[in-house]
Amino acid sequence: MKYRKLGNTGIEVSEIAFGAEFLVERPYEDTEELIKACEANGINFLDCWMSEPDVRSHLGRAIKNNRENWIIQGHIGSTWQNNQYVRTRDMDKVIPAFEDFMERFQIDTLDFGMIHYVDQIEDYNEIMEGPFIEYVRKLKKEGVIEHIGLSTHNPDIGLLAARNPEIELLMFSINPSYDMFGAMEDIEEYRRDDVYTDDLSSLNPQRAELYELCEENGTAITVMKGFAGGTLLSDETSPFGVSLTPVQCIHYALSQKGVSSIFVGVKNVEELEESLKYFDANESEKDYAEVLNNAPKHSFEGQCTYCGHCAPCTSEIDIAMVNKLFDLAKNQEKVPDSIQEHYNNLKYNASDCIACGDCEERCPFKVHIVDVMLDAQDLFGF
Ligand code: SF4
Ligand code: SF4
Repeated sequence: MKYRKLGNTGIEVSEIAFGAEFLVERPYEDTEELIKACEANGINFLDCWMSEPDVRSHLGRAIKNNRENWIIQGHIGSTWQNNQYVRTRDMDKVIPAFEDFMERFQIDTLDFGMIHYVDQIEDYNEIMEGPFIEYVRKLKKEGVIEHIGLSTHNPDIGLLAARNPEIELLMFSINPSYDMFGAMEDIEEYRRDDVYTDDLSSLNPQRAELYELCEENGTAITVMKGFAGGTLLSDETSPFGVSLTPVQCIHYALSQKGVSSIFVGVKNVEELEESLKYFDANESEKDYAEVLNNAPKHSFEGQCTYCGHCAPCTSEIDIAMVNKLFDLAKNQEKVPDSIQEHYNNLKYNASDCIACGDCEERCPFKVHIVDVMLDAQDLFGF
């Protein structure tokens, strides 16, 4: 394992870190197995944005005897309401949810208290001028959190955070696909011909500025969505028309200025080992330039990355899961039995959608979720 400093904090973290999003609805044994594999491979950095109680409890139990060896990112503003994840700024919900995090992790001090998922300027301003930041400051003053971080997909917000001396760490979505584009609100502008070149300068200038600024001023960057929710790993779903390997994606993320570490979301030890091949890979195995050089003009707008930020659904549908099963099945001649069975076993299905549209407002990728629900009904039969 190789380690890098987290910006000005001086804390050393493993270049590859563990993102726990796939531990939802899994038995404790799976968490323990993955945590042990991480520890055996020198991974010392963990992010948990999930509010699902068991995920937090399982992780707390699994790291308990080795707590001092882990650096933890925990999210403030990620709550669990009516059995669903809800991002909120309502302090009556935020405070108990964060206390629940600390309790379930069995810790008194958290390394990084992350202001969770801020993608709109208005939201950022409200956080920074209101009770939310006051609470975060109080946690820091009392030593409950040691450092303040913020997570976002939006480079506009990233730049605001990087210029804010209170924010020491930025968790940001970085992969070769997203990097071609600026803030999602301005996506049309980045479809201009002159944005695309023959080399890696297809890195969007706004993002380049963000990475440069973080490198310069010592705001640490940790990477999420390094595989774009898995879509970069398959020929069918990659916007480049050809898949990248986990090694290429990891290399890309770690090659950006200011980046300290990439969180890989893995479902099992085999997937973790796949990512760890990065350290034994030769230069040609890491090289992503050819894929990028052939990139068509293509954006991620409208494509689901299964991030789950559209929750909670009014009808309690697991939207990300329906989208994922739909994507897995839609290009096949016939819906595979295993996928149909998984779909049949969901508590709520696409036919439960009442087209309220609430989820679409929360989707950072502007997925037309109501349309997907209609298409999924057609494909799966209900
Ligand atoms: S629909 Fe949007 S918010 Fe929901 S999982 Fe997909 S990309 Fe994420
Ligand atoms: S539009 Fe459908 S999927 Fe989205 S929140 Fe409403 S009921 Fe749920």
